[in-house]
Amino acid sequence: MRRSAAELDKMRKAGRIVAEIKATTREAVRDGVTTAEIDKVAREVIERRGAKSNFLNYHGFPAVICTSPNSMIVHGIPGKHRLKEGDIISIDCGAIWQGYHGDSAFTVGVGKISKEAQHLIEVTSRSLQAGIAMMEEGNHLHEVGRAVQRVVEAAGMAVVREYVGHGIGTAMHEPPNVPNYWPGSPGPKMKSGNVFAVEPMVNIGGAETRLLEDGWSVVTADGSLSAHFEDTIAITDNGPEVFTADE
Ligand code: MG
Ligand code: MG
Repeated sequence: MRRSAAELDKMRKAGRIVAEIKATTREAVRDGVTTAEIDKVAREVIERRGAKSNFLNYHGFPAVICTSPNSMIVHGIPGKHRLKEGDIISIDCGAIWQGYHGDSAFTVGVGKISKEAQHLIEVTSRSLQAGIAMMEEGNHLHEVGRAVQRVVEAAGMAVVREYVGHGIGTAMHEPPNVPNYWPGSPGPKMKSGNVFAVEPMVNIGGAETRLLEDGWSVVTADGSLSAHFEDTIAITDNGPEVFTADE
């Protein structure tokens, strides 16, 4: 799907709201806070900006963000879980502005974290940046995942295969999929006006995942730490434009 300039403007605005959710939830992460309290902070931003949540009620999801601590990869449900010093927490968030979606995620430490955890966060963030650097008109979509995978595997870590990025626009999840690895084919050519959510999920240990009994929470099969970074990015004539950048 190629979005018009007017559509891209709405997605840019949705992205700025999502960036504000990221900044405020990051600020809320501290020893002793519950994941439900972080969700509340995100709800307040969405309400204040007159936006809508794209996470709430998505296939029955009960919150406006996903909170996935430590070995949880994605889709954790905010609740009574209390963060503690040394944890890492992945926060996935989104918003809808005038019918157009933004989607973004980051992982952050709670207070002082291990060198290993810090390295995981840095590698995952860097892998997303390497993917974004490939997002030029005329490049093939799967070059994005190949670039992500190179960074991750050079660090001796693993890219999750079961969950991938996606097109985004008037729905949060639109075709095509954006794998975070080379799937064996180059995929479609990216065109100006395309918008994608790119979202590497990286495990310190193996790539395998496990779904918990709540039907949402996805964890690493081997219990190793996992990180997740995501941005919503448009292909433009001047290169990639990150709508959800917050710093
Ligand atoms: Mg997301
Ligand atoms: Mg996404």
